[in-house]
Amino acid sequence: MRFDTVIGLEVHAELATATKIFCACTTKFGGAPNTQTCPVCLGLPGALPVLNKRAVEFCIRAGLALRCEIAKFSKMDRKNFFYPDMPKAYQISQYDLPLCRDGFLTLDCGKKIRINRIHLEEDAGKLTHSTGTERYSLVDYNRAGVPLIEIVSGPDLSTPAEAVEYLEKLQRILEYLEISDCKMAEGSLRCDANISLKPIDREELGTKTELKNLNSFKALSRALDYEIKRQSELLAAGQAVRAETRKWDEAKQQTLSIRSKEETQDYRYFPEPDLVPIELDPAYIAGIAKSLPELPDEKKQRFMADYGLPEYDADLITSAKRLAEFFEAVNAWYFNPKAASNFIMGELLRLLGEEQLKSAEIPVNPASFGDLLKLIDEGEISVSVGKQVFAQMFRTGAAPEEIIKAEGFKQISDETQLLAVINKAIKDHPQSVQDYLGGKEKAAGFLVGQIMRETKGQANPKLLKDLLHRELEKLKE
Ligand SMILES: [Zn+2]
Repeated sequence: MRFDTVIGLEVHAELATATKIFCACTTKFGGAPNTQTCPVCLGLPGALPVLNKRAVEFCIRAGLALRCEIAKFSKMDRKNFFYPDMPKAYQISQYDLPLCRDGFLTLDCGKKIRINRIHLEEDAGKLTHSTGTERYSLVDYNRAGVPLIEIVSGPDLSTPAEAVEYLEKLQRILEYLEISDCKMAEGSLRCDANISLKPIDREELGTKTELKNLNSFKALSRALDYEIKRQSELLAAGQAVRAETRKWDEAKQQTLSIRSKEETQDYRYFPEPDLVPIELDPAYIAGIAKSLPELPDEKKQRFMADYGLPEYDADLITSAKRLAEFFEAVNAWYFNPKAASNFIMGELLRLLGEEQLKSAEIPVNPASFGDLLKLIDEGEISVSVGKQVFAQMFRTGAAPEEIIKAEGFKQISDETQLLAVINKAIKDHPQSVQDYLGGKEKAAGFLVGQIMRETKGQANPKLLKDLLHRELEKLKE
């Protein structure tokens, strides 16, 4: 039996507002437990919430970027349930009138994935369970009341790869909008997946399971793979898939049932009586629309068109907003897009990774970087010396000319000087010379390597190759 896979994602993103959604407590990550709380976010009796305007604005930014309709009239609702990380025994969320609805996100293949809704809600606290023999749990309410948006896709994703691409694109867009840190490892971006299978000749959808604890792109992909296999084996054996919530177990690399859907409680939603409805002026929404930045896909297309970058380069360089801005600043100073892109993808990203720096923390000045590319283009230094200079610029912040001067890096483009080294190499490596004369062209490459080592990478590579061939050809006569 063959099946179609139907996947929908529910993504929660913590909004990067300075304060919580209904009080003035800070949203900073990593404070000592329960130091960032007040009567409102602790749910003490009589404390009244006040909606954070910035959180509403951020939710609208996400909605506009994802081509949603923004509701002129919307409200907050109480979602009632008891769990120790939720001090009020209800979460303030949005039920039937979300701020944004009916948008879409386009995958690279052109497929549109519907965004059913984006709504605003508050985050819960964080529980820590003891692992020792003494059993207890601790609760930290610093995170309680941090604003969240929940982005719900239509059941339009057909493969784990599409789900990963959708989530990557979403993460990029939220990062460009500067409304969320989007760190899956720290939990500021979280993802649940709904997945069901149906025989390809049938219309109605199969029974779905909901997958939780997908803390990385890899976990999302593997959990979906696992679930496709599990469900298709059940269906092929004539058994039913149970409607249930399952959790991805990273250690076991499998999904495990945590509760069946029949146990799902009724949340008894009702309008939040302590908050007035949200009524938005069209001019206010238009103002936010005007302030949206160029989005990642548009930027990528423009980088391909305006800078002539290959798709691979354009994709990587626009993967982070600050990296893309850095690339443009370098080219505004000295225009050589492909050379800039090669250095960014090779050297810069490697060094950032080694130092665990974000693209917002690039320690090199774009103008100095442009100067370095110019020095290479003008033949002052070779590309390989350029890489060494760049590493020093990255560590010290010094200008390329200073480093070249201090280290004595200069490209050797003087024929006499080069010929001396070439002839020495020919004399020192008679076997390679014999090989070359015997028809093994590759032997010349070994000699080039020796000469480069001898000159500490400073020989002008093109001139060196020309001269070496000329000298070797002379020996043939
Ligand atoms: Zn508070």
